[in-house]
Amino acid sequence: NAVTAMMHAKAQGRGNIQRFMPGLRTEQGRRLTLESHLRRAIAQGELFVQYQPKVDLRSSLLAGFEALVRWRHPEFGVIRPDEFIPIAEESGMALPIGEWMMRSAVAQLVAWRAEGLPLAPVAVNLSAPQFLQSDVIDSVRQQLEQSGLAPGMLELELTESVSMADPERSVVVMQGLRALGVLLSIDDFGTGYSSFSYLRRLPLDKLKIDKSFVKDMANSAESVAIVQAIVAMAHQLQLTVIAEGVDTAEQVAALRKAECDQIQGYYYSEPLAAEDCAAFIRQYSA
Ligand code: C2E
Ligand code: CA
Ligand code: CA
Ligand code: CA
Repeated sequence: NAVTAMMHAKAQGRGNIQRFMPGLRTEQGRRLTLESHLRRAIAQGELFVQYQPKVDLRSSLLAGFEALVRWRHPEFGVIRPDEFIPIAEESGMALPIGEWMMRSAVAQLVAWRAEGLPLAPVAVNLSAPQFLQSDVIDSVRQQLEQSGLAPGMLELELTESVSMADPERSVVVMQGLRALGVLLSIDDFGTGYSSFSYLRRLPLDKLKIDKSFVKDMANSAESVAIVQAIVAMAHQLQLTVIAEGVDTAEQVAALRKAECDQIQGYYYSEPLAAEDCAAFIRQYSA
């Protein structure tokens, strides 16, 4: 480990071996190492995308995919986004990674179209720096124009906290994105502080119930009540509701009873490698 750390330090051309060696044993050291390696991860082809299916609860047919980023680090193996996205956001790497993800998702849709597969919307997660950059609308428009895809094939997931960082601006940016025809979702709903009166002002298509509520449905009547209330209110606002983190048949039954529209989770499928999606698409399309 120390040897590879030295090699990495040298390869970085910074030469400060002291900085990397002792630190590697600590969390802070790993963080610093990841931060410096993240800068070359895109160029080295270390990032890749997995696609997790979303399934319609009534028809049990494919409703779409969520694109999830992964990093295959040469030394540490596959690193989950929960660890490196926060680092990316603090080190100015969220933008290039987000743009790379958007391009990858669009390219994947184009590839599926070329294979003659029926298309379903692919959702990409937008980080705060990406959502708040001045030309986010132009960059999405360009992707759509270059690909010739129907705009409704691209979905953008924003967490409550991303949209609440600057509520007034969020409304304007979302209206611009919506005008392009892409789908907009609020992600991890229920974990933030946005109210339904705020949500009502947003041009949304979809609301995604956070997996913490889904998880508790089995042993908490309160969670069931909360989920039912969210679904009912979302439907009042004409929003599609999807639950994430669904991994048991009991949860599926409870969500069906609550009249949730779609589910995403290990119950149907883990996030899939791009090359494994075609089989899923064929199996779960009408
Ligand atoms: P998220 O947007 O809430 O994504 C859902 C996470 O739940 C994914 O974790 C997925 O693998 C996981 N999951 C799926 N089914 C189940 C299940 O049945 N049970 C449980 N317990 N978990 C399930 P993942 O891929 O590790 O991503 C973690 C988070 O990292 C995502 O949470 C999202 O906030 C962020 N992320 C992932 N990809 C990107 C990206 O391209 N850009 C940005 N900005 N953030 C991303
Ligand atoms: Ca998401
Ligand atoms: Ca989520
Ligand atoms: Ca989450």
